[in-house]
Amino acid sequence: MTEAWEALVPRMRELRDLASAAKLLHWDQSVLMPPGGAEARAHAMATIESIAHDKLTDPEIGRLLDELSGNGSLDEVRASSVRVLKRDYDKATRVPPDLVRALAEIRGLAYQTWTEARPRSDFSMLEPHLSRFVELKKEEADALGWEDERYDALLDDFEPGLKSSQVSELFDELVAGLKPIVESVLQHVGDPPGFLSGDYREARQKDFCEWLVAQIGFQGERGRLDKSPHPFTIGIHKGDIRQTIRTDPSNLTDSLYAAMHETGHALYEQGIPDELRDLPVGSAPSLGMHESQSRLWENHVGRSRPFAHFLLPKLKERFPEELGMVDLDEFYLGVNHPRRTLIRVTADELTYNLHIALRFEIELSMFRGDLDVADLPEAWNDAMERHVGLRPGNDSDGVLQDMHWSIGGYGYFPTYTIGTLYAAAFFARAEQDLGSLAGDLRAGESRRLLDWLRENIHARAYIDEAGDLATKVLGAPPGAGPYLDYLRVKYGELYDVSL
Ligand code: ZN
Repeated sequence: MTEAWEALVPRMRELRDLASAAKLLHWDQSVLMPPGGAEARAHAMATIESIAHDKLTDPEIGRLLDELSGNGSLDEVRASSVRVLKRDYDKATRVPPDLVRALAEIRGLAYQTWTEARPRSDFSMLEPHLSRFVELKKEEADALGWEDERYDALLDDFEPGLKSSQVSELFDELVAGLKPIVESVLQHVGDPPGFLSGDYREARQKDFCEWLVAQIGFQGERGRLDKSPHPFTIGIHKGDIRQTIRTDPSNLTDSLYAAMHETGHALYEQGIPDELRDLPVGSAPSLGMHESQSRLWENHVGRSRPFAHFLLPKLKERFPEELGMVDLDEFYLGVNHPRRTLIRVTADELTYNLHIALRFEIELSMFRGDLDVADLPEAWNDAMERHVGLRPGNDSDGVLQDMHWSIGGYGYFPTYTIGTLYAAAFFARAEQDLGSLAGDLRAGESRRLLDWLRENIHARAYIDEAGDLATKVLGAPPGAGPYLDYLRVKYGELYDVSL
């Protein structure tokens, strides 16, 4: 038994190393690489993926996993590692190597084309790549197998075990509760405070963000903060957790809250115990669980009144001319200013999940075969009008705004909303356990909260499946209730309305 485990360890390390190399190529492509490198990079990434696929699907791994599976003498970490790796092995052996390579190649090309098509607002450039991508993803889903919905097989990559029907139920509950709140709040919202647009020097924004992320616990000697067109966080390997933000001179809050958000992801990655890192359990159990951490720091900490109280004087030191006259009420109102917007990443906390609801609806239709890629722009605009109440005037502000579909992230979007719902439930639970955190956050002190997250969530890595972990922490699986309650209290007070 120990022998089988010992034989598996170097193979798991090799897989982890290949994943690290692929992540570094991805980081470089998104942060540093010139456009001219796109084609060669797509090939390099496809080669690494196909090597990783060959290693993972080696029948010897299957044999070792069979020997170890269901063996009661393994400790918790080893048993979970075997469970997670077996799931990956079973999935990987179902997808033919040619299809793996074709998917990796189309991903490189589609992503690069997206970076060119978006500024030109020209969906027709991307359409052939996207059509091929969706066809290949359908083939992949069919190879993996599914029962009720083809989309279930895609969701499983991001939220293992979650079904489309469960996600539909969650969105039905959420949208039904959210729309009346949004409608009544928006009636009371005035013009955006002037400080939201201004002339904020980009180098100072980046400096401030570097200070801010360290303040809330990001360890600079074990990570980096850079700029990229689309903010993201990636754990290359232990001791090397990278996050990115983007800066816009006319908008201070964009970089500020991207930094809070990405730091939530980065703190999670830095909180995964080193001794688990090289094992299959050395990651988050799902993207929704990961997103719960970014939403919690961005919204429940970053956009709270106590933290605004801490943040404003610090910002005034860096931007005295732009913010000198802004008081706490105006600042707090400003950083929570809700409005209808076409762009998901700049959407406020209140309307954000309506943007996700429309993407989920569209993805489901595409993979049911009810919607062709050629008809995406129109379908997008219709859904945006129905959910958010605005119609995009061009594809750049519409269907081309996100990179996800051009990198094959079908089934990814719902994880944002799942993360939002987990975040509200976790923050409420932390305050039940620790007492109010308002005093801590007013002083810019988030150690107690971070320790609670470390102990209850980060340290558990992928030992439990996401739903089981959430249920252990909360005592019950979360629905939309805690999030809707949180919005009613917060926005009811902000705009003095009863919701
Ligand atoms: Zn995120």
